[in-house]
Amino acid sequence: MIEINGVTKSYGDFDVLKNCTTKVDRGEIVVVCGPSGSGKSTLIKCINGLEPFEKGSIRVHGIEVGDPKTDLTELRAQVGMVFQNFELFPHLTVIENIKLAQKIVLGRSEGAANTKAMQLLDRVGLVDQAKKFPGQLSGGQQQRVAIARALAMDPVAMLFDEPTSALDPEMISEVLDVMTDLAKDGMTMIVVTHEMGFARRVSTRVVFIDQGEIVEDRPSEDFFSGNHNPRTAAFLSKIL
Ligand code: ADP
Ligand code: MG
Repeated sequence: MIEINGVTKSYGDFDVLKNCTTKVDRGEIVVVCGPSGSGKSTLIKCINGLEPFEKGSIRVHGIEVGDPKTDLTELRAQVGMVFQNFELFPHLTVIENIKLAQKIVLGRSEGAANTKAMQLLDRVGLVDQAKKFPGQLSGGQQQRVAIARALAMDPVAMLFDEPTSALDPEMISEVLDVMTDLAKDGMTMIVVTHEMGFARRVSTRVVFIDQGEIVEDRPSEDFFSGNHNPRTAAFLSKIL
């Protein structure tokens, strides 16, 4: 579903991603972890064309991301993205947030967009919040709306960039529960997170990035059995 091959990206002299190679099969849940500033967000943004890269290639569901001829709007419709800070449109109600791109990008009718939005609000447990504005919701509720909004495009894969990092502790599980359900339904997912309990329970593979390099890329069971690269061990000792 997602193939990343020798991707290198620099900001001036600084290599933020160094020859990164990995792939994600359909239905896989890949957790990406690593120290702050190691390039996790940059890698995620490269996958859906939010950041350009100089070397290597990324293919998503047959779409060549780095090809200048690629329609990035179509790519982003196929790959849902959920950010740390929700990024909802503050001036639109919850339901309007979920309907907007369905109508503009996919050309769905008002009725079809509305039906889809209500189904997804039901799925994330927020049907009764449809008419509220994002600012009237808790962080956990806003993040569930953001997930519903991404799912409304019928994506082939979902990318999550630290989706629970901005949440109060009591709200983390309501978001992780929605993500766990999504994983059980067979969604292909890349999740940048330091929630190692979630990683152990839900992920199929763990990728550890340090200083722009993929240092470990192992099936979860194997990753959590130990024998880590010293850089991974040093990181895990700080967060666990
Ligand atoms: P992470 O998500 O792992 O914390 P990021 O991908 O956000 O890391 O950033 C990786 C590195 O790239 C950091 O050192 C950051 O300061 C740097 N960086 C990110 N965006 C830019 C930019 N637009 N210009 C220069 N450096 C940047
Ligand atoms: Mg980041």
